[in-house]
Amino acid sequence: MPSHQPTTEDAAVDLTKIEQPSAQASTSEPNRNPKYDPKKTHITDLPMTRKNWYKHVNWLNCFLILGIPLLGLVTAWWTPLKWQTAVWAVAYYFATGLGITAGYHRLWAHTSYTATLPLKIFLAAVGGGAVEGSIRWWARDHRAHHRYTDTEKDPYSVRKGLLYSHLGWMIMKQNPKRIGRTDISDLNDDPVVVWQHRNYLKVVFFMGLVFPMIVAGLGWGDWFGGFIYAGILRIFFVQQATFCVNSLAHWLGDQPFDDRNSPRDHVITALVTLGEGYHNFHHEFPSDYRNAIEWHQYDPTKWSIWAWKQLGLAYDLKQFRANEIEKGRVQQQQKKLDQKRAKLDWGVPLEQLPVMEWDDYVEQAKNGRGLIAVAGVVHDVTDFIKDHPGGKAMIKSGIGKDATAIFNGGVYLHSNAAHNLLSTMRVGVIRGGCEVEIWKKAQMEGKDQMIVKDSHGERVVRAGMQVTKVFEPAASAGAA
Ligand SMILES: [Zn+2]
Ligand SMILES: [Zn+2]
Repeated sequence: MPSHQPTTEDAAVDLTKIEQPSAQASTSEPNRNPKYDPKKTHITDLPMTRKNWYKHVNWLNCFLILGIPLLGLVTAWWTPLKWQTAVWAVAYYFATGLGITAGYHRLWAHTSYTATLPLKIFLAAVGGGAVEGSIRWWARDHRAHHRYTDTEKDPYSVRKGLLYSHLGWMIMKQNPKRIGRTDISDLNDDPVVVWQHRNYLKVVFFMGLVFPMIVAGLGWGDWFGGFIYAGILRIFFVQQATFCVNSLAHWLGDQPFDDRNSPRDHVITALVTLGEGYHNFHHEFPSDYRNAIEWHQYDPTKWSIWAWKQLGLAYDLKQFRANEIEKGRVQQQQKKLDQKRAKLDWGVPLEQLPVMEWDDYVEQAKNGRGLIAVAGVVHDVTDFIKDHPGGKAMIKSGIGKDATAIFNGGVYLHSNAAHNLLSTMRVGVIRGGCEVEIWKKAQMEGKDQMIVKDSHGERVVRAGMQVTKVFEPAASAGAA
């Protein structure tokens, strides 16, 4: 589907214009199109109007991706489906799907393992049978997708809509200058890739339609069924399934490793795409031969690569260390925790509280305000007296006094939750009141290293680290 290749007849399957160059053609690239003129205004540079809208549409791709399957569906209506053909169509669906996921994607786009020549030829052949463009073209776009994820240079950015990332980018013409540059020199040096690119038309015709038809025809005499079911309709399902990596995998699921971009992990996407559904992981660790890292997650592509290794067909399987993977996971969890914490009421920050004189504090408490000082912080507990779990008398006994010791074990060693709750009742700090004043002064002088802040600059109050928590109750703050 070189839909942004620079001609008016770009084909989803490179059927007619396989000799086109990419916009990023370098001198080492095997094919060049002499007709391509980068100076000429591209149709995508013009706004879509009622008069020119049809020029924006890639009609050949429309026919190949949507027209042919529709014809296949209609024809299937009066084509009996033999069970052998059904089994063969499903088997060939998996083989051609693997050609894309294990071949085009993990081997060539990401070089996540090394394949021996026989395996490469197999993957280039069955991958061609999936009818999704040549390896070279596919891998170049995919590298741009990883490098420029969610930006204008991403060939199938989900930011342009789910449908766009699934199909729109192929059925609408694309400006070849828009797609981000990527290095594909390694692919240009791979004889299998170059051969498949040069002979793509033959490969796709044979592996996409002729081969599945021959198997069904010679095998059980179902030539036409093989053509319709294992050929045309199977192509449609493989295409739609693998297109989901660009759409569904950027739209549905969780983001356990990083949520700054769109890739997501979901089992449904994995089931649809032969294991490519753990896409958040994949974008973080693209050269890992796995997409699913847990044994119970569905990743038949990973299992196949592993099996090929056992058979001596694949080697150098790349894997990120668990340490690196866990760091990403922990950072993302931390970020979520920070966001959760930021929504909670931790009390007015101490530096924003008014400073009270001790005498003023005592005076106000005498006049009926339920003020209690703990560790130099004044709390208004008026509304809480009736709810105090330890009873009204206990809490009232602290009013107007320095209750630091009482609160921290002198009478009752209050719980962590009690310290948290107390912090929401803060109304002031006492001048010279224990560590609070020292702490405030240090903070003003920029010397304070005691305050833990999260990545958004929000203060972190860990359990047992509340300002009112005093392990060795200080002497009366008022005496200071
Ligand atoms: Zn992606
Ligand atoms: Zn990828």
